[in-house]
Amino acid sequence: MGAFELMDGEYEQVVYNHDPVSGLKAIIAIHSTALGPALGGTRFYPYATEDDALRDVLRLARGMSYKAAAAGLDLGGGKAVIIGDPKRIKTEALLRAHGRFVESLAGRYITAEDVGTFSADMDVVARETRFVTGRSILNGGGGDPSLNTAYGVLRGIQAVADELWQSSELAGRHVVVQGVGKVGYELCRLLHEADVRLTVADVDVDNVARAVNDFRADTADPHKVHAIPCDVFAPCALGAIINDDTLPELACAAVAGSANNVLARLEHGRALRDLGILYAPDYVINAGGLINVADELRGYSPERARARVEGIFGTLRMIFHRAKERGVPTAEAADRLAEERMREVSRIKLVRVSPGLGSAPTPAR
Ligand code: NAD
Repeated sequence: MGAFELMDGEYEQVVYNHDPVSGLKAIIAIHSTALGPALGGTRFYPYATEDDALRDVLRLARGMSYKAAAAGLDLGGGKAVIIGDPKRIKTEALLRAHGRFVESLAGRYITAEDVGTFSADMDVVARETRFVTGRSILNGGGGDPSLNTAYGVLRGIQAVADELWQSSELAGRHVVVQGVGKVGYELCRLLHEADVRLTVADVDVDNVARAVNDFRADTADPHKVHAIPCDVFAPCALGAIINDDTLPELACAAVAGSANNVLARLEHGRALRDLGILYAPDYVINAGGLINVADELRGYSPERARARVEGIFGTLRMIFHRAKERGVPTAEAADRLAEERMREVSRIKLVRVSPGLGSAPTPAR
């Protein structure tokens, strides 16, 4: 399939960038700038083919539009991918070349860290462009976004409790956390403080040992963790964990974790509802990291970022309410909320506020 066919009339712009000297081969996809500049990280990954890279960047850019819209941010959705193994080809020159190309888009796209890139890389990219966030604390950045992602997931689990048990109090509840890496570990810490009973699973035995030691967590086989009877199953490792194989084995009242693309297919959201399992849509409950990097664009304030992450509780309560009212699964209610906001807020940009300004998005800084 060609690029235009894959864009399917839904994407604003796809740009291929090549710097043969540094070896940079990158694709930037801008899904939507309806709500503001398209923000999304740079994924650095050894894609097998250019087609795989294009499909991934398109999928991820679209996801960012929905995540930013549902989080109430004045941002659109975009993403960049750099093709290659970061361990082998990542150099200062390559990252700076990427920064130059990001700059050339004049603020339509703002980049950040993602799989294969780190805050320190964004500091290098920032030497060539203003349109970058997720920088190190030393350089005015907001530090590790995982902490706010975990806090948002905690607020999301409290919203689940409020919906299911009419109280956001979590003491005595049993939460099973799959994956105790950056987000999962911090989530366990917060849940432990809230007197929650924890069971954890991870393929990394050191990470399991740390959670057992620090939070007296029970452990589970990583391949069977989804089947443990509990109040909340919190996937914080892989995508597509809710699939045809795991669905019949679930024994939880709710699924609420940080992992992206939790549902293998959209219809699995409906299957969860039919099983009576409440699902906190992934891009809504895990928006804390995006909120954190977005805050940097205004000069990072930890208090303001945290206050905005708090909002995940209310957004999820609204999505649960709408899903019930409209008789749709929560994943669909979240999509409708994001689409409505993109449509309604972008419409008001048709109002001309000053001659010549038109409806161009405001530059990030
Ligand atoms: P991480 O790499 O620090 O942690 C992931 C953990 O999952 C690791 O400990 C890994 O060993 C474990 N794992 C991998 N495969 C597993 C398996 N089959 N079973 C059990 N455990 C397994 O990543 P992270 O930053 O904590 O992110 C976790 C998830 O949350 C990812 O899906 C990520 O896309 C998503 N997410 C993260 C952020 C963030 O701010 N870091 C924001 C939004 C979404």
